[in-house]
Amino acid sequence: MIEPMDIKKLRITVIYDNFGGNEGLRADWGFSCLIEGPEKSILFDTGLDPAIFSNNMKLLKISPEQVDLMVLSHEHGDHIGGLPAFFRMRTDLPVWVPSSFSDPVKAYIRQSGAAMEEVDDAPRRICRQAATLGKMSSGLYWPEEQVLYIATHQGGIVVTGCAHPGIVKIVERAKSVMGPEILLVMGGFHLATLGEAAIRRIVDDFKRLEVRHAAPCHCSGVLARKCFREAYGARYIDIGVGTVITGADFKPASP
Ligand SMILES: [Zn+2]
Ligand SMILES: [Zn+2]
Repeated sequence: MIEPMDIKKLRITVIYDNFGGNEGLRADWGFSCLIEGPEKSILFDTGLDPAIFSNNMKLLKISPEQVDLMVLSHEHGDHIGGLPAFFRMRTDLPVWVPSSFSDPVKAYIRQSGAAMEEVDDAPRRICRQAATLGKMSSGLYWPEEQVLYIATHQGGIVVTGCAHPGIVKIVERAKSVMGPEILLVMGGFHLATLGEAAIRRIVDDFKRLEVRHAAPCHCSGVLARKCFREAYGARYIDIGVGTVITGADFKPASP
């Protein structure tokens, strides 16, 4: 469906996150990142607060013209809240959303002038080296969520919003629909309410699934970040607002 990209061209900039930041660059509850290097540059989610989102974009020197298309993981305020700020700067681009987005949000996107792509259950190619894994169910209480996948010569990069469908289920799906090698899983893992034993089981699942690097942020929780850091060592990538991930951050596959 998609082809691997050259990892040397990869550049992922975290625009919005609960962690990191400084006096200028503001940390806040939510998530957004810009993925450059694939055929199309992808803005994944937009954080919660429009003012913080546009402030961070400006400080990170990201212009709206750098973005070719937008992928929104799920309909929660901390992922789509910054949308009005982006649309004030630019609307002539495709926006990929789960087809189960509510009518008012769909109408808002359409009326802005953006081209909306509605994603059903099936995985779909977004550009030459990126795909959505398709919308996944998040159970009774949370909206359906889509996950972004970037193919590289060293394995797939999985980018999650809140991982409401379950972070392990998401990794399993990525492996089954896109291929067995997972270079990195990054984003919100939604583990903040779990105790240490439950988190350790998830870390063990990551090892069993041979996920090579882990970068939990946003709603992953402080304890999960600690457990992943301990288990992954040099293959833990510490991210927060302002972090830039490039090909140099990855360790060679172990023998
Ligand atoms: Zn979230
Ligand atoms: Zn959420």
